[in-house]
Amino acid sequence: MISVATFRLPGSALRRYPSQVMMSFTTLQQRNYKSTQAVERPEEESHFLLILGPPGGGKGTISKKMLKDFSSFHHVSTGDLLRQHVRQRTALGIKAKGYMDSGELVPDNLMIDLVMEDATPYLEAGQSLLLDGFPRTIEQAMALEKVTHIDVVVNLDVPTDTIVERLADRWIHPASGRVYSYSYNPPKVAGKDDITGEDLVQRDDDKPEAIRKRLESYANITAPLVKYYEDKGLARTFSGTKSDVIYPQVKKFLESTHFFS
Ligand code: ADP
Repeated sequence: MISVATFRLPGSALRRYPSQVMMSFTTLQQRNYKSTQAVERPEEESHFLLILGPPGGGKGTISKKMLKDFSSFHHVSTGDLLRQHVRQRTALGIKAKGYMDSGELVPDNLMIDLVMEDATPYLEAGQSLLLDGFPRTIEQAMALEKVTHIDVVVNLDVPTDTIVERLADRWIHPASGRVYSYSYNPPKVAGKDDITGEDLVQRDDDKPEAIRKRLESYANITAPLVKYYEDKGLARTFSGTKSDVIYPQVKKFLESTHFFS
């Protein structure tokens, strides 16, 4: 676990965007405020939306739908970023793979550096961000607060039985990350990717033992974050078993906030 005091932008981001990043970092620190404080902000200012929910709870599916309707947002999915590192066998990918395959969380310091490195150019450009899968621990949430404020947290509440069925039914095309489900979104040809015709596989962490660990770490470590954001008056929970039914409610809620109108 890292202490908040040691949080800083990764060296590589500083090398790539030296002066701009420092400027943006300062600006973001200045913008850090308590959610109860009324702050007048210009309409063109960037917004920060988090999506929380259990593994297999539909964060990715709901995020994709949001991006279609709110296209100014840049999507940061830590699961997708990590899987890309694993595919490319980067130093981070090699370190992260063992944790991911066994359904454990990747250590906070690696995650914070990963997210900041991906998000910095977008923050610098003043773009709005949709964070999917981050933060997942209180330490990550506190590190994020050091550099920016969160406008809205969408929390997905999906029953465990639905999650277990869904994860066991999920197949992916490893090279592209395309996801299929035999119940909701089946491939045209069983076992084959629609675009390349290559074989579909199950994620190592969608196997029963890893699913159990992911649900445990969600309940023990990530679920308390919901209360953390509720206490700040930022989180809204949406319950259900189908993303197609949940999403229209999420959309209506987002449109009702002044951030997304
Ligand atoms: P899910 O939410 O379905 O578990 P993700 O694709 O979001 O799946 O994440 C896959 C794995 O990547 C997680 O089980 C965990 O090992 C790792 N991971 C993703 N985001 C984080 C994070 N913020 N902190 C720690 N580990 C993470």
